[in-house]
Amino acid sequence: MEKDKNNIDSLKKSAKQDDFKLIKDGYITVIAGPCAIESWEQLDAIAGIIKSCGLTFFRGGAYKPRTSPYSFQGLGHTGLEYLMKAGRKYNLKTVTEVTDAETVEEIARYVDVLQIGTRNMSNFALLKKVGDVARKRNKKVLLKRGWAATIKEWLLAVEYISSSGGDLEIVLCERGIRTFEPYTRFTLDLSAVPVIKKLSKLPIIIDPSHAVGQSDLVIPMSRAAIAVGADGLIVEVHNEPSKALCDGQQALNPKQTSEMLKQVSYIANIFSKKVR
Ligand code: PEP
Ligand code: MN
Repeated sequence: MEKDKNNIDSLKKSAKQDDFKLIKDGYITVIAGPCAIESWEQLDAIAGIIKSCGLTFFRGGAYKPRTSPYSFQGLGHTGLEYLMKAGRKYNLKTVTEVTDAETVEEIARYVDVLQIGTRNMSNFALLKKVGDVARKRNKKVLLKRGWAATIKEWLLAVEYISSSGGDLEIVLCERGIRTFEPYTRFTLDLSAVPVIKKLSKLPIIIDPSHAVGQSDLVIPMSRAAIAVGADGLIVEVHNEPSKALCDGQQALNPKQTSEMLKQVSYIANIFSKKVR
């Protein structure tokens, strides 16, 4: 009897641990971490920085969808193992990108949030698979906007994820669209935030890092994202940006990270929200 009770208590405890929300009322969620997982030492150092900033969600790419086949492609499965280890060590929820339907189940065994990148927003087989696996395994889904997708196409992509029904937290992420302006990497479409709020009930976060592609522009766009009503941010952070194997030019260093969080907290305060 006592043993049964203990079993039920421990089941409840693990269910509770899994029962998290990516977006929570009264909070701005800031997901931060490196573009790519490069080594255990790098990931451990960055996770420590993110934790000391008081954040809850840690990002890191294991399977990297690089535009050039000659660029660093990520550590793959080993990266997932490091990410899980870092998440446990620092008590951080983990976020990584899924790049094809075959690896979704594998990735879901290691992380809490499945991210679908801009290059895959219209990969419908992947969207359906992610919806299925996320629902079965109680994972959250972060759907980035395709860089050439309209808001309507983006919302239809959500329906592929949710097509098998049931409860599932899906969060949108605007990460910049392609325009004729080459100065920034992409053009951050901040108007997508109020438009999404008007058209749907879905939460939306902003990725200023991939949008602007330059670290000094990330802080002002992070402020703007929160001011326009975004529910959070996903930002690239590196302990030594100049040595990063991927997207170092847009990564915030530790000092810039705490400055960004300080400024974002000021804006969040206007809406009586706290940064987590
Ligand atoms: C990323 O967040 O690591 C990434 C590759 O972003 P995006 O899909 O927006 O290019
Ligand atoms: Mn990146």
